Amino acid sequence: MSQSTYEPVIGIEIHAQSSTKTKMFCACSNDSFGAQPNSNVCPICMGFPGMLPSINKTVVEKGILAALALHCEIPQFSKFDRKNYFYPDLPKGFQISQYDRPVSQNGFIEIPVEGAQTKKIRINRLHLEDDAGKLVHTAGGTLCDYNRSGCPLMEIVSEPDMNSVAEASAYAQEIRRILRYVNASECDMEKGMMRFDINVSLRKKEVKELGTKTEVKNLNSFRALESAVAYEIKRQAEKLDAGERIIQETMGWDDATGETVSQRSKEEAHDYRYFPEPDLPPLEISAKDVEKLRAQVPQLPAERKQRFMTEYGLIDEDAGILTEERDMADFFEAVAKTSGDAKKAVSFINTVLLKHLKDEKKELADCKVKAQDLGKLIKLINDGVISNNMAKTDIFEEMYASGDAPERIIEKKGLKLVSDTGAIEEICKKVIEANPGPVADFKGGKDAALGFLVGQVMKEAKGQANPKMVNEILRKIL
Ligand SMILES: [Zn+2]
Repeated sequence: MSQSTYEPVIGIEIHAQSSTKTKMFCACSNDSFGAQPNSNVCPICMGFPGMLPSINKTVVEKGILAALALHCEIPQFSKFDRKNYFYPDLPKGFQISQYDRPVSQNGFIEIPVEGAQTKKIRINRLHLEDDAGKLVHTAGGTLCDYNRSGCPLMEIVSEPDMNSVAEASAYAQEIRRILRYVNASECDMEKGMMRFDINVSLRKKEVKELGTKTEVKNLNSFRALESAVAYEIKRQAEKLDAGERIIQETMGWDDATGETVSQRSKEEAHDYRYFPEPDLPPLEISAKDVEKLRAQVPQLPAERKQRFMTEYGLIDEDAGILTEERDMADFFEAVAKTSGDAKKAVSFINTVLLKHLKDEKKELADCKVKAQDLGKLIKLINDGVISNNMAKTDIFEEMYASGDAPERIIEKKGLKLVSDTGAIEEICKKVIEANPGPVADFKGGKDAALGFLVGQVMKEAKGQANPKMVNEILRKIL
C-alpha cells in the first residue's frame, strides 16, 4: 500500500495577535518587538496575586469584525474562562480563554483549489484569549521573557475539512489575507503574530470515520505548516502500512531536521479544569453593535479579486497580486479610475511601481507616489502629451523620489512631446526620403511598414515627438 491509499484529514487552529495599542487586560503596550526582556510587563499581565484584569474593548471589536469576515455567527452572550495549567511561561497558572461560550461560532471561508473552483472550509469558532510569555533556551539554561504575556489573541478553529497540503496552505493564507483586510491583525509572521497548530489523521478512502489524529503545535511560517502536514501524512501512512497504530499525541516541529517531534500525549478539555473567569463580566453584544461592525467589513480579497477580473478585465494572476493587500487594491482602483485605463494601470503598477518597491524592500505605505498622480500620468500618455518612455523613466523617477505631481515635473523639466506640426512634418519628410523601400512597401498595401517609419521618426526626434501626430502626418504625406 502507499500514501495514495489514504485520504488525509486536516484541521487547523490559528493564533493571530490582535492589532491593538495595549494588551488584552492591562495598559501595557501590545508591541514588544525589539524591547528588552521583561521591560513591558505589569502586575496584571504577570498574574500577581490580587491583580484585576479589565477587558480591552478594541480586542472584542476586532475579534467580532474578524469573525464577521469569516461568516461567523455572533451570539448575544459570551464569556471568558480560565484554562488552568502550569508552565514556566505562564506566571498566572492559567490562561484567560473562552471555552463553551465563545464570542463567535459557525463560520466558513472559501479557498481556491486547483482550476478555477473554490472549496468551502467550515470554521468552528473564533474566540479570544491572552498569550503566554516566551521561553528563551540558551547554553546556560532557559530564560523567561514575559513581554508577550497578556497580549491579545484570536484563536480561529477550523473543522477538519482540508484534505491536502495545498488546501491547508491555501486556507492559512486566505485567513491571513482576510485578517489583514479587516485590520484585525497584522499577521506579521516574522514577529510571531500568526502561528498554526495542525491536526492530521489518515483514513482509508472508502472509510467514513476519522482515523487517530496527531497535533503539531506552534508552526510559525507557511513553509513550516506545509512541511509539517506533508511529513505527518507520510509518517502516518508508513505506520499504518506496517500495521502499527497511530498514537494520539501532541508534537512539535523541528525546522532544522524537517521532522515532527513527540512532546506529550494529547490532553483533553477536562485536564484544564475550565471554569468561568470570576474577575471578568460576561460579554453582552447587542444586534445593533454587531450590525455596526458588519458595516465596517470591506469587500474581502477573494470577492474583490473576482470583481477585478470581471470589472477591469484583469487576468487571474494580476488580480491576485493586486488584491493580496487591501491598500494595494485601493491604490489600483484609484489609478484605474483617474486614468480611465485599467490595463495600463496594472501594467504600470506591476512593471514599474512594484519593481521599485521590491528593489528597495519597501511597502506601498512608504511610497510617495499618490494613486491620483499615477492615474494622471497614464492619462497624459494616452492624451499624447508625453511618451510612454518619458513617463516610465524621467517623470516617474521624479514622482517616486519627491512625491510631486506629474504636471509639475513635466513643466519643470520641459518634457512635453513635440506637438508642433511643422517640426514633425520636417522630420517625416526626411525619413520618407531616406527609406524608399519601406515607403514602397506601405504604398503597396503593407501596413506594417508604417510602424517602421513611425519608429524612424521617433528615433530622429529623440523620442520627443507625439506618436499619434507622427502617425497621422506620415499617412497624410504618403
Ligand atoms: Zn501588563
